[in-house]
This record gives sequence, C-alpha cells and structure tokens, in this order.
Amino acid sequence: MTVGTREDLRQCTDMRDVQGFRRNAQAVASHVCRVQEHRWVNARYKYLRLESDTGLASVTFPGQFYQLKCPVTEASQPFLLRPMSVYGTGPGAGGIQFLYNVTGTGTRALAELRVGDTMQIVGPLGNTFTIQPAFRRILLVARGVGLATLAPVVRAAASAGTNIVAVMSARMPADLMRDEFLGDAPADVHCVYDSNGSSAVDRVEILVRRLLTEQPADAVYTCGSQRLLMLLQRVLGDFPDVLGEVAMEQHMACGMGVCLSCVRLFDRDGSKQFLRVCRDGPVFPIRDVVGEVQYG
Ligand SMILES: Cc1cc2nc3c(=O)[nH]c(=O)nc-3n(C[C@H](O)[C@H](O)[C@H](O)COP(=O)(O)OP(=O)(O)OC[C@H]3O[C@@H](n4cnc5c(N)ncnc54)[C@H](O)[C@@H]3O)c2cc1C
Repeated sequence: MTVGTREDLRQCTDMRDVQGFRRNAQAVASHVCRVQEHRWVNARYKYLRLESDTGLASVTFPGQFYQLKCPVTEASQPFLLRPMSVYGTGPGAGGIQFLYNVTGTGTRALAELRVGDTMQIVGPLGNTFTIQPAFRRILLVARGVGLATLAPVVRAAASAGTNIVAVMSARMPADLMRDEFLGDAPADVHCVYDSNGSSAVDRVEILVRRLLTEQPADAVYTCGSQRLLMLLQRVLGDFPDVLGEVAMEQHMACGMGVCLSCVRLFDRDGSKQFLRVCRDGPVFPIRDVVGEVQYG
C-alpha cells in the first residue's frame, strides 16, 4: 500500500464534525520521522518516541491515532500500516510518542527500529475524546493497550485541575504500567488483576458503581476491553447524566474511511447504523455501542 501525499489526503478528508466529536481532518498528512527513543517498558510493551519536521504536537488530540508503516525485516514483512493511538506529544513541536504491545508481524518489525532510523507515519486520524475544562471529576477504566490511548486524557485532566479516578485492569501486577499511565498526575487509583480474580466483571461492576456513587464523575472514559465496555454501558444506564466515551480498537486497513474494513454496528437513539471506527471514531459514546454482533 502506498501512502498518499498531503494533497491526496486533503482531497479525501473533510472537516465535518460527527455528532459533536472534534476532528481535524485537514491536518492529516504523511510524515517521515526519526526515532529518538525506543525502549522496553516491560516484557511485552515498548515505548517509541519519534520526531518529525512538522508540528505534529499542536494538531494531535487525545484519542486520535496514526497509521505506522512498520519496517520490513528478514523475519517480518508487514503489508498494511498499523494503527496506534497517540500516547503523548513532544518534547518540541515535532515530537510524537507511542506505547505498543509487541504482538504480531507488524509490531515485531516495529520493535527492531533503532534510534536514528527513519519511519513513515500517517495522521493524525480519527476524532477525539470530549474533555471539558469544566469537568470536576472523571473516571477512567483502562486495560492493556487501552492505557496508551487514555494516557493523554489523564494529562489533559491533570493540567485542567480535574480530579481523576482510575480503575486499571491487568493480567498481573507486572503488566500494569501504572507510571506509564498516570505519570505524576494525582489520582485515586484502583488496580484489579486476573491473577487474583479482582478483575472479574461482577467485581469490577461493584467497584465502578461504588465509585460513581461515592465520587460522582462528569465523564467515564474507557479503552482496551470489550468486557469492561459492556459493563460500563450497563452501569451508565443507572447514571444518565454521566458522559461515557470509548476508544474502539478494531482491525482496520486504510485507516481513512475508504476500505470499510473496520465498520461496527452502533445504535444512536434507536437508529441502527454501521459506522467506520477509523473515520467516524475511534471515540464513540459508550451508550451507542452494540455488542455481540455477528458480522457477515
Ligand atoms: C485506533 C487504534 C488504536 C490502537 N492503539 C494501540 C496502541 O496504542 N498500542 C497498541 O499496542 N496497540 C494499539 N492498537 C492495536 C494495534 O493496531 C495492533 O495491535 C497492531 O496492529 C497489531 O499488528 P501486528 O502486525 O503486530 O499483529 P497482527 O499479527 O496483525 O495481530 C496480532 C494480534 O493483534 C490483534 N490485532 C491486530 N490488529 C488489530 C487492531 N487493529 N486492533 C486490535 N487488535 C488487533 C490480532 O487480533 C492478534 O491477536 C490500536 C488499534 C486501533 C484500531
């Protein structure tokens, strides 16, 4: 797959707002970046910091993602670009950061990049989380790679002085990446693990209901687990005034709304619609997600 030029991309994107979610399609472009930092943060996840000559930081918002052109190595020949949420921006106007799980062909090849190498990325793509400076408290429910996607929300809330409550779910304590998620942001943190059973859906549901009752939140954000998403949808049914948003991770090819490989079914006020996760999302209202669908 070849990557379009800035002009190509301009022609196939526009500036529409979909359901009030912010998007900045006019900023989408292909960037050649240098690897500035690349290291393991634990046995499965790597942190990647790139520098481009263009001012990516000022046009990239929490929830958005880039398509990464992973290098071709002897062992791995990734064909499609791989979508990765923006984990952070900076330092400097051209800095962009990712936190990724090394799982398959593309990310194994990505993991081989060395400081000083160059790579191509396309973005910023997709819409952003709704984060209002007026919010007094937010609740974040993150699992696995979801914390890479939600980390910019933590930073935005912390700099706005918004109180943060976080439920972090992981297979075991070694997988949690608490520092990578929260940095030095003040937060009331609740960690749950598969290894001791505390991440079981019924136990997390009790925890989330208690947190929303005792520490009312203006918004709930989640990413990284279909089970947690459906749990939150159920819980939010009893908290109608709380905004709920999820960043969906769906297999995708083009990342720009053309190939339709990432469509999912949503229910907007009783109207069933297939939407493209890459172009209409990846951030959607939690209440709109339709679970348990067999796609043809
Ligand atoms: C909008 C978006 C943001 C994402 N952000 C991050 C991120 O910040 N960090 C991160 O580690 N991962 C993220 N992902 C998932 C990431 O794109 C996949 O893990 C990656 O493409 C896998 O490529 P691979 O070639 O290494 O693995 P493959 O060999 O293609 O697959 C390995 C495993 O990854 C799963 N997978 C592959 N593609 C996707 C996908 N698009 N979505 C979900 N699972 C997938 C497969 O089911 C399989 O279990 C994101 C996905 C989307 C759609």
